[in-house]
Amino acid sequence: MSAMASSPWTSPLAERADDATTMTCAYCGAPATDRDHLSGRQASDSAQSDPDLWLASCHRCNVLGYQVWEANGLTVVEDPPETRVRRVALSSLRVADNGLWILTPPRFWVALARLLVETGDELRKRAGSR
Ligand SMILES: [Zn+2]
Repeated sequence: MSAMASSPWTSPLAERADDATTMTCAYCGAPATDRDHLSGRQASDSAQSDPDLWLASCHRCNVLGYQVWEANGLTVVEDPPETRVRRVALSSLRVADNGLWILTPPRFWVALARLLVETGDELRKRAGSR
């Protein structure tokens, strides 16, 4: 493998995960090169919605995640809370399909809990506004 191929900058779509290099892809088990942020960004120029809610992935599976979102109408964020939850659900199903044990980053479960609580709060707020 050339030095260029192992460069942290070979992935144009994803933030490189230094600690993911010792992990395997949550979706296929290949060596991980990327961080796949499960809820993504609200807009192309915005920060990650849930920066700690990511899984190690290979670049191919990270790109495939965008294609899955696209196929499910989740690349355009019309309702941020709904889009966050639906994106995480799709990634969860992709992980479930692999049949592999996976490692989660240290803050993963805290980030998932925060997403669920914030979504619950939003649903409560919407129910109260009817
Ligand atoms: Zn993969």
